[in-house]
Amino acid sequence: MTEGVVLSVAVETPRYSAVGGLLDYASEQTLPPGTLVRVPLGRRDMPGLVWQRPAHAGLPPAELRPLAAVVSSLPPLADEWRELIDFAAAYYQRGVGELALAVLPPDLRKLDDTRLARRLARLQRDPVAADRAADEAAALSARPELNEEQAAALVAIGAADKPVLLHGVTGSGKTEVYLRAAEEVLQRGRQALVLVPEINLTPQLEARFAERFPGHVMVSLHSGLTPAQRLRHWLLAHLGRADLVLGTRLAVFASMPRLGLVVVDEEHDPSFKQQEGARYSARDLAVWRAHRLGVTVLLGSATPSLETWQRALEGRYLRLALDRRIGGGVMPAVKLVDMTRLPRETQQERVLAPPLLGAITERIERGEQSLLLLNRRGYAPVLHCSACGWKSGCPHCSAWRVFHKADRTLRCHHCGLTERVPRACPDCGNLDIAPLGRGTEKLQEQLTALLPGARVARLDADSTRGAGELQQQLGAVHAGEVDVLVGTQMLAKGHDFRRVTLVAAVNPDTALFSSDFRAPERLFALLMQAAGRAGRDATQAARSEMWVQTWHPRHPLYAALKAHDYGAYAAAQLAERRAAGLPPFASLALLRAEARTADVARAFLHDASALVAPREGVTVYPPVPPPVAKVADVERMQMLLESPSRVVLQRMLAAWLPGLHELRAQHKGLLRWAVDVDPLAI
Ligand code: ADP
Ligand code: ZN
Ligand code: ZN
Repeated sequence: MTEGVVLSVAVETPRYSAVGGLLDYASEQTLPPGTLVRVPLGRRDMPGLVWQRPAHAGLPPAELRPLAAVVSSLPPLADEWRELIDFAAAYYQRGVGELALAVLPPDLRKLDDTRLARRLARLQRDPVAADRAADEAAALSARPELNEEQAAALVAIGAADKPVLLHGVTGSGKTEVYLRAAEEVLQRGRQALVLVPEINLTPQLEARFAERFPGHVMVSLHSGLTPAQRLRHWLLAHLGRADLVLGTRLAVFASMPRLGLVVVDEEHDPSFKQQEGARYSARDLAVWRAHRLGVTVLLGSATPSLETWQRALEGRYLRLALDRRIGGGVMPAVKLVDMTRLPRETQQERVLAPPLLGAITERIERGEQSLLLLNRRGYAPVLHCSACGWKSGCPHCSAWRVFHKADRTLRCHHCGLTERVPRACPDCGNLDIAPLGRGTEKLQEQLTALLPGARVARLDADSTRGAGELQQQLGAVHAGEVDVLVGTQMLAKGHDFRRVTLVAAVNPDTALFSSDFRAPERLFALLMQAAGRAGRDATQAARSEMWVQTWHPRHPLYAALKAHDYGAYAAAQLAERRAAGLPPFASLALLRAEARTADVARAFLHDASALVAPREGVTVYPPVPPPVAKVADVERMQMLLESPSRVVLQRMLAAWLPGLHELRAQHKGLLRWAVDVDPLAI
């Protein structure tokens, strides 16, 4: 084969091999970049994407291996999509091929050209029924008239030349603005991408889009789909047949040839950051992608991330405010219960402070619902032997195993180890081992005993494990079959519960003093969001309440919550962050290492730090263990890098990484290492 061309192909090379993920192959014909191919690598065939023609003078075609196959039935991925991958790979320090292939639907990599061609033909035939256009016209004429704030926001969005922060409390009409912005885009024949934190928790958002635009094809993209569904949805977006894509973080990589609008709902939500592999932020990539395309990105939140808020303050983002709730409903009155005033001996013993219990009882009598938030699932966080001091630690993790009473197990929430609860203390044989502390299971049990006749339900990761259980439980709440709902933060997300007039945070204080610098930010967002669950029905809003049980009633975070004053809270937090040199006033990266022993992990990080050229502007901190150092018998260590300049940090990382790939070979016993750019927790 002396004729032909050289093609540079992105392939999923083993992670962190020295190969950057682009390999040269010979091809008889030239192929457009973005074409899906199969290439030989070692003794195997791998999927690959034609990336670009190599600029360098490499080997002549005759000395390269030829492509194994061309999947020509699939229209090539657009330049825009490849640029997004190039950017994300460089920014998050991963291989281009690794990232490109990882974000494609797994089934796309398996099908050969003939089978894919058949699938595509079927999708092209799939008709959008003509009568649905009439349905859509009807849906559009029935949509609500925008209020003044919404109308002004929509005009400003239309004229915006920068990312837009839509700042408004729950129920202020943000979703309606997304729908209108999407409508304009669809009318121009473009596609809209809507990113949400967790799709299963917000079925209502999906339903509202589907109801409003029955004449357009909408697909969802999230990890709950079967591989076949995911492929089908992805292809519909890629072919331009789907006009609306609603998805979780991975949907930021959807191929959308006519993309005209990106919406990121609840933009502050930590689940937009991927926590393994390429640890990308879907929110940040959405902003990049929209900017690159010159289309609008809408970031919506009641409690924006401090990064986004700071950019809005600097004028880099346009802040549009929806200050009033639709229907004139007020935000619930916040009541702080000063737990230090309860009689000392009963502070720990009481299920709930008496006034709170009284308020819940009143709700039950009126047929209204209460939500109780406790961020700890299981019955009790630890079992304890009072004779010898034994505690139910996990043998494989530096963490306690949680007591689950329903199935009488001890479960490690880190490695999953599950065992029957021992009948006696494993160390001394004492029969009197008791749970310490309280989780959602225990709170539910206590309330059931205290509120005879009341229907007390629980919503957390344990109660919703089975298929359909979550929808069923949410359905029961909507149907009014539940009086008191106990649950974890899952409760606070997006649900539109109409009968809830009381929300209570049972024990939120722990986050005030966490070592994680973002813990207060998350707590404030959670409490604001939880408060938004109460009084969604404007007729009940006036008597809706948010209760907080606290031992620190004078903490500024609670003062800001009481005033529903996000701005004041953000200003105080930003001042602290500025003083401490933390984001958004500094850029951070973490180098993480995992090994069987802490020494091996530490030694790798230590040698890695020695490779950092003494360069102005990047501070390298000593290796430290993360809060839970050992998980499943693997010891973890991490090293923080900090710079006032994102660009300086990026340049340093790019120069540093190749050396780390080589360094790994010298550290036997190192299991994994990875760089986390813009980490959420340090
Ligand atoms: P958010 O997304 O900020 O929580 P929504 O857009 O869901 O707010 O609005 C809250 C409720 O008010 C929804 O039931 C919605 O249908 C309704 N709504 C929104 N905008 C209007 C409007 N302009 N007129 C009447 N009802 C509206
Ligand atoms: Zn004991
Ligand atoms: Zn464990």
